[in-house]
Amino acid sequence: MAFRFGAIESDEFERQLSRNTGDFMRAVALIETGKVEIVDRPIPAIGADEILVKVTGVGICGSDLAVFEGHREVPEYPWIMGHEAVGVVAEIGGNVTTRKVGQKVVLEPNYCCMHCSSCLSGATSGCENRVIIGMTTPGYLAEYVAVPADFAWPAPAELSTSELVCLEPSTVGEAALRRSGAKKGELALVVGAGSTGLLLLILLLEKGIGAYFSEPYKPRADLAVELGAKIHDEGRQYQYVFETSGSVPGSESAIHLARPGGTIVLLGLATEPVKIVPAEIVRGRLTIKGSMIYDHPQDFFATTSNPPKTLSKIIRGEFAMENAQRAFMAARDVAGKSWISVSSEGELA
Ligand SMILES: [Zn+2]
Ligand SMILES: [Zn+2]
Repeated sequence: MAFRFGAIESDEFERQLSRNTGDFMRAVALIETGKVEIVDRPIPAIGADEILVKVTGVGICGSDLAVFEGHREVPEYPWIMGHEAVGVVAEIGGNVTTRKVGQKVVLEPNYCCMHCSSCLSGATSGCENRVIIGMTTPGYLAEYVAVPADFAWPAPAELSTSELVCLEPSTVGEAALRRSGAKKGELALVVGAGSTGLLLLILLLEKGIGAYFSEPYKPRADLAVELGAKIHDEGRQYQYVFETSGSVPGSESAIHLARPGGTIVLLGLATEPVKIVPAEIVRGRLTIKGSMIYDHPQDFFATTSNPPKTLSKIIRGEFAMENAQRAFMAARDVAGKSWISVSSEGELA
């Protein structure tokens, strides 16, 4: 039986409340390709280094859709979806001293081991033992999730839940920018204006880097223009090109549109071969880099301590948990960010 209380009366009260781990919660699970349903699951128990988070919202992105549509395999069905989550700390483990019950947090959904050679070099995105939420481990689209405390970041107070769900994908952009070395006053092109592309454009604009984009789907292109980005014009080349479409034509044009000495950063996951003329790379002195998610802890630290100011402009589709099926079916066509509201912040039960 689930308890429901209107207000939080004391820390001790909250702790007692969330310790009812025999209670059940609702979660959104993929039952089969293209079909999600609400399922009941026990509220997870937490370890000494973990916290229990009452989830308030979860964003939907391209990799969730790849799972939903069956392009990316998951270990089992039913499979709990989602990885771009925010919530409120409901309980803390015995060793946790850095997080507090009632604190708002943004979750970092890739847990690196911090002891393999990649982690020791600082490139935790290459961790050999990486736990990927929603892909190798059940997702965050549930009323409660257990999370290692170090991977739950105190949320910037000024942002709403819908803005906070954009921080994880924004961190993907933050890491790509850091790895590119792009600086104020230079020109950059973003290929593709899906949510990753739009978030990159926001970051470029806020950092004073010339933000151009190419995007064939008009509603997304319109949104990019609304943000203040400029449409790529024929003949222009760029010092930095960020490929986010994950398509073969997008990847090919990214290489052609870099100017001599330029850097191409690939974020999109095109899985088919792309035509590259080595002489073009050599004569153009081009650098091609792959940018995989972000590195712990530096990139989430950067995003949460100095979040983008204009996130609200790209939030378009808000869905209740009951309408998750509709949310996943609509997300491809929604320009901007779709997200699922799991619960309001006020109630802790
Ligand atoms: Zn994502
Ligand atoms: Zn590692």
